[in-house]
Amino acid sequence: MKKNETAEVTIEDIGVNGEGIGRVNGYTLFIKDAIIGDRVKVKIMKAKKNYGYARLMEVLNPSQYRVAAKCPVAKQCGGCQIQELAYEQQLEFKERKVIENLERIGKIDPHYLQGIIEPIIGMEEPFRYRNKAQFPIGKDKEGHAITGFYAGRTHAIIKNDDCLLGIEENELILKCILKFINEFRVPVYDEEKHSGLMRHVLIRSGFHTGEIMVCLVVNGDEIPHSDVLVERLTGLLQIESITISVNKEKGNVIMGDEIKLLYNKPYITDYIGDVKYQISPLSFYQVNPVQTKILYELALEYANLKGAETVWDLYCGIGTISLFLAQKARQVYGVEIIQEAIDDARTNARINGIENAEFFVGKAEEVLPRMYKEERVKADVIVVDPPRKGCDETLLETMVQMQPERIVYVSCDSATLARDVKYLCEGGYELKRGRAVDQFCHTVHVETVVKLERKA
Ligand code: SAH
Repeated sequence: MKKNETAEVTIEDIGVNGEGIGRVNGYTLFIKDAIIGDRVKVKIMKAKKNYGYARLMEVLNPSQYRVAAKCPVAKQCGGCQIQELAYEQQLEFKERKVIENLERIGKIDPHYLQGIIEPIIGMEEPFRYRNKAQFPIGKDKEGHAITGFYAGRTHAIIKNDDCLLGIEENELILKCILKFINEFRVPVYDEEKHSGLMRHVLIRSGFHTGEIMVCLVVNGDEIPHSDVLVERLTGLLQIESITISVNKEKGNVIMGDEIKLLYNKPYITDYIGDVKYQISPLSFYQVNPVQTKILYELALEYANLKGAETVWDLYCGIGTISLFLAQKARQVYGVEIIQEAIDDARTNARINGIENAEFFVGKAEEVLPRMYKEERVKADVIVVDPPRKGCDETLLETMVQMQPERIVYVSCDSATLARDVKYLCEGGYELKRGRAVDQFCHTVHVETVVKLERKA
C-alpha cells in the first residue's frame, strides 16, 4: 500500500497506544480512533514495508462496542485513548492483554493461567476518578488566557476546563484563575519564546478528606496581585493549600523545584484505607485513590502476612504500600531512588505512628544486592512496584538468592511483568495468583498484581 491510498478495513485488535489494528491482504494498518469491530474507510498516511499508519475517514459500519465519547474533546486530547470503546470492552481488552503477555512472554501455560488469573476489577463509575490534574495555560487566537490539554504528541493546547476524568471543582478553579489572569493582564507563558509568567495549574484533592490544593507553576518568583487571587479562590471553595512552583527552565518538565506558600499550608492530607498521607505539590501520589486502595489491599492479601515477617518493599515511592504492609508485618524496609519521596515516606510513617518501617534511598538493584551481600539481610516477603521498564536483572537475581517465601509484583506494564515473572519462575518460583485492576479508565494502561511462591 502507498501513501494517500484509501482502503476499507475491519478492525481486529487494539494497539499499545489504543489505536485500532486491521489488515488489508496481510498488510497491517494502525488507525487512531478506530474501535475493534468497526468497518472503516481509511487513508494511508505513512507506509512502511509490512505495516502502515492510516487516518480514519469514515466509519462505514460501527462496531457493536462503539459508544459516543462522553468528553467533547476526547479525539483531540492526548489524555484518553479509548473513550469510544464501551467500558466493559475496555476491561476485557486489558485483561486479555495481561493474560496474553503472561502466556507469550512469561511462557506460562494458558490452561494453568486460566485457573489462577482472577477477573479484572473495573470501576463502577469510570469518570471523575483522578485526584490530580495539571492544566497548561496558553492563549487563544484573540489573546485571551485559556487552559486545556496538549493534543496528542504536540504542545498545541486544546481548550478545556472540565476534564471528565478529574473532579468537578477543577472547572470552577480554572475559570477563577483565567478571569484573574485576563483581568490583571498577567502574562501567559510562551513556550517557544520562553517568556511570560503563568505556565501550569496543578490541582490535587484528597478524596477521603475533601482537601483541595492549588499550585500555580510560574516562570518567575511571584504572581502580581496574588493576594486577590488567593482571596477569590478561597472565597469560591474550601481550599487547604495554595502555592507557587517556580519553574524558570525551558522544556517539558512541568513542576519547578522551589515551592512558595501563598495560603495556609504547603500540603494536603489524604487517606488510603487507614493510613494517612501528606501530599505536597511535588510528591508522587497515586492518581486514582479508589482503585489504588483495591490494588494495595490485593497486594496485602497476596503477601499473606501473619505478623512475624520481614518484608522488603522495592520501588516504594512515598511508602504507600510499605505503610499498608507495616500494619501486618514485623518489619518493613522500603527502597526508592528519589530522596524527596523517601522524605515523604518517613513523614508518613511518623504521622501514622508506624515504627516498624525503615526507608533507604537508592536504586533497588544496588541497595538490595549490597545489603544482602554485606549484611545478609533477610526477606520473608518481597514486594516490588517498578516503573514501566520493570525490574533490573541484578535485582531479580538477588531476590532469587534471598529465597523469600512469597514475591508480590505490582506492575504498570504487563509486558515487563511477564518478562520478570519468567525469570523468577526459572529461579524456583511459581506464579500462584494474579489480577488486573483498572486504575486508568479510558486509557490503554492497566495495573496488575501477581503473587509468586517459592517451590518447595
Ligand atoms: N509503590 C509506590 C510507587 C511506585 S511507582 C506507590 O504506590 O506510591 C515506581 C517508583 O519507583 C517511583 O517512585 C520511582 O521513583 C521509583 N524508581 C524508579 N527506578 C527505581 C530504581 N531503580 N530503584 C528504586 N526505585 C526506583
